[in-house]
Amino acid sequence: MQVGQILKSKDVNGVITVTPDQSVGEVAELLSAKKIGAVIVSADGRGVDGILSERDIVRELGRRGAVCLQDKARQIMTANPVSCGPGENSDEIFGKMTEGRFRHMPVVEDGEMIGLISIGDVVKARLAEMAMEKTALEGMIMGF
Ligand code: AMP
Repeated sequence: MQVGQILKSKDVNGVITVTPDQSVGEVAELLSAKKIGAVIVSADGRGVDGILSERDIVRELGRRGAVCLQDKARQIMTANPVSCGPGENSDEIFGKMTEGRFRHMPVVEDGEMIGLISIGDVVKARLAEMAMEKTALEGMIMGF
């Protein structure tokens, strides 16, 4: 399934972003309120400057304690994250995520972000495809 199709099937439209100068504490509040695992860091709300995931926050909490909540997002984000385009196939994305050991990827078209997909979205799409393939194969075997 193409990334663009996965985006269309998601309940949440658009991308939740923070600015590079927002605090890590604010980001943690946002992740909790929206029940998500990562946000895109963007100065203008259109380009991708970085990504900040729950894992980055937990790592800093473990290293330095609660003082890290006063840091700015840009201090602990991953800059220039690996992104993908809407025409890419979910199998390729799954491979990149597995190899890079990350679970989120911004979707960018003509230099502007148009969405964010998670490994959960990719797995859900693959399961749906497999169910359709199974039904089609059963139909062929049974002669429908
Ligand atoms: P995640 O598994 O997505 O929570 O992220 C694990 C680590 O990879 C964190 O340090 C993230 O900042 C980083 N990360 C998340 N998504 C990406 C991405 N698309 N490209 C590069 N690094 C990423």
